Amino acid sequence: MMLMTRPTSLVSWRDFANCKGADPEVFHPSDEDELADLAPDYGAEAKAICEACPVLEVCLDHALVSREKHGIWGGLSARERRRLIRRRRRAS
Ligand code: SF4
Repeated sequence: MMLMTRPTSLVSWRDFANCKGADPEVFHPSDEDELADLAPDYGAEAKAICEACPVLEVCLDHALVSREKHGIWGGLSARERRRLIRRRRRAS
């Protein structure tokens, strides 16, 4: 018998990501650090996509736990995630 549906274990939160299929340069610009310093609206396009993403929280948790150093994850830039980690450390 042929399996017609994907096994549940192979479904990932990434399958529900609003950024699925988006231009990687929008979420992971090659000159991220430079842009973050120069452009006040750095990441705005990616963050707008994240805003309505159904997996925003799990995406952000993933980025924090795996210490993603680059790109927009869960609506936050790398710099914003570092700040969040510091705030959480101080609060604990
Ligand atoms: S929160 Fe943003 S980066 Fe994360 S999966 Fe959703 S759209 Fe992609």
